[in-house]
Amino acid sequence: MAGMSTSEKSSAETLATPVQFLKGVGPARCELLERLGLRTVSDVLFFFPRDYQDFSDERDAGELEEGKLQSVRGVVEEIELRSTGAGGCVLGVLVRSAGGYLRGVWFNQPFMQEKFSHGQRVMLSGKPKYEGLVWVMRHPRFETLADEEDEPAGEILPVYPLTEGLQQWQMRKIVRGVVETHSDLLEEVFPQSYLDEHALWPLRRALPQIHFPDDHASLERARRRFVYQELFILQLALAVKRRQQHDQRRSPVLEATAKIDARIRRLFPFELTAGQKQTISEIAADMSAATPMNRLLQGDVGSGKTVVAVYAMLLAVAHGYQAAMMAPTEVLARQHVLTLEKLLAASQVRRVQFTGGLPPKQRRATVEQIVAGEVDVVVGTQAIIQDDVAFDKLGLVVIDEQHKFGVRQRATLKHAGLDPHYLVMTATPIPRTVTMTLFGDLDVSTLRDSPPGRQPVNTYCVGEEKRAGWWEFFRKKLRDGRQAYIVTPLVDESEQLAAASLEATYETLANGELEAFRLGLIHGRMSPAEKDAAMDDFRRGEIQALVCTSVVEVGVDVPNATLMAIEDAQRFGLAQLHQLRGRISRGSYPGFCCAFADPQTEEAAERLRAFTSTTDGFELAETDFRLRGPGDLFGTQQHGLPPLRIADLLRDNEVLDEARRDAHALIAADPGLSNPDHAKLRERVVKRYGKALEVGDVG
Ligand code: ADP
Ligand code: MG
Repeated sequence: MAGMSTSEKSSAETLATPVQFLKGVGPARCELLERLGLRTVSDVLFFFPRDYQDFSDERDAGELEEGKLQSVRGVVEEIELRSTGAGGCVLGVLVRSAGGYLRGVWFNQPFMQEKFSHGQRVMLSGKPKYEGLVWVMRHPRFETLADEEDEPAGEILPVYPLTEGLQQWQMRKIVRGVVETHSDLLEEVFPQSYLDEHALWPLRRALPQIHFPDDHASLERARRRFVYQELFILQLALAVKRRQQHDQRRSPVLEATAKIDARIRRLFPFELTAGQKQTISEIAADMSAATPMNRLLQGDVGSGKTVVAVYAMLLAVAHGYQAAMMAPTEVLARQHVLTLEKLLAASQVRRVQFTGGLPPKQRRATVEQIVAGEVDVVVGTQAIIQDDVAFDKLGLVVIDEQHKFGVRQRATLKHAGLDPHYLVMTATPIPRTVTMTLFGDLDVSTLRDSPPGRQPVNTYCVGEEKRAGWWEFFRKKLRDGRQAYIVTPLVDESEQLAAASLEATYETLANGELEAFRLGLIHGRMSPAEKDAAMDDFRRGEIQALVCTSVVEVGVDVPNATLMAIEDAQRFGLAQLHQLRGRISRGSYPGFCCAFADPQTEEAAERLRAFTSTTDGFELAETDFRLRGPGDLFGTQQHGLPPLRIADLLRDNEVLDEARRDAHALIAADPGLSNPDHAKLRERVVKRYGKALEVGDVG
């Protein structure tokens, strides 16, 4: 771009100044800052507080009011650590302020003692209570006051992430200095009219207030500005990506004509559910366009996704194209093969299986068939990608994610000619806000109903004392002809340990509670052939109760298996528990899931309560999200997106809706962000998401 003025250029340069040139930052501190990822002045400006200390209501100890958040500054006069018996202790720190005394009290935190010393100047903040002779704050937040001139006065102070060797007050001092000298150099990202329209504070106003807010209202406004910006830039990137996947690629037009539709439906021995009809029509509409489909199909285990995927594959085949379906594990791939065999028994569709376990000769032959276009449908694992399989005429790729692939590392299959359509399936119900971010570049179809005649699964959380009774119940059901899964957790993420604990469980049951029954074992360290054999035995009923870990065989379909015992259920995440339970909801007998658990934390107890109280996967997903935050399961990094720095998908879901709507509107009006007013936005999009989303050149 021509015409960049020298002053603009120099402010950009100034903002890029390395931190070592800042006042008060020597080589040692510079290294500490770098450890926090702070290399330049600009990094420091955008180093958002992780929290705030609220000293806005500061009082003397003589003027405190009960139950309100207040702060008191003073000098430490007494530090006393007392035992309270049974290994407990209480730390009392007496602080003298100008007009009275305040005691800070910490229970069972002996290490807090080291943080105090006689004569130390501190600020305590919390909700005080008058106890006998003195005001007391329990577990107050506290600050060591550095030197008099830096002392907070009636402020809301930022709390920054720190690293060993760097104190909170030092960090504040550095940031305060940079904010004072450099925030005026910042260039606005949004056009002024946009700020006005959306009631957003300008950058230069918001930035100082996010670090050192005047009051609560200012902090909220400042925060909103940055949360909006962060989510808006992400949504722009996703919208751009959608357009690129769409507009700049060509795919075969695969229309579901009435004749084709009737021919496919005739193969299904049942009436499609309303949800299946709806999602099929969404998919068919996508596939009849000359641009690629990029659709996420989500639905609980057993909701009938595979049937929908098979419809889509047959649609491709009906037009003379090939379709590939990939599962994350061999056993799941095999499960799909079986489903397909069942549905396609009466059809002439040519199909092959492609997994890592194929003998070399057969593998070569299969590759040749695929390349020559002699097969229509390929079902397998990622081995399809790893091998040099170039499809002759690939129309559709179905990726059964089952939560193991990252969508970002999405499989790209080699193929000649046009780009295939993509359908990604996930059996993990995803909270709405997460769908809108991590999967924001995909269209989403959701199956909420399940095929008729399904029996509910009754779930119970069972303590040690009721164990024997449950095994009795299991024995009765097994004698009636039902089958059972017995799931043990993956200890330490190590397959070897898991196998050991699994074998121990197996031995115990085989020589005890389930002695009279045929038990089997399946785990991740078995070869694919061994796993297949065990699964087949289970399917045929030769194994009555299968001892397994949680990682294997999520989508396995054995309708006669209606019993499940989960050992150490408190160790499992909610999504995982729900997935496990999904295995026993597939037949016409009611399912019984018994979670043996000893929840040690309130969170674990709540998780198990949620698990036993509903079988709605979407409801559970929202609960899980609320309990654990998005970090665990839906970690953005795991999906290849840079982490959000300030927005919180739980707390900021309304801003997310707004940002998404606004981003779509802007991209519709200015697809390439080529309007000069949008140059800064475009720059932010490319800088932050260019690599992760491959949206290099926006235009
Ligand atoms: P998912 O892939 O979502 O776990 P599947 O597609 O494998 O579910 O379906 C689970 C079971 O339900 C399969 O045995 C399948 O044949 C059966 N099924 C699917 N759709 C229907 C339907 N509309 N009516 C009756 N049974 C169905
Ligand atoms: Mg399935």
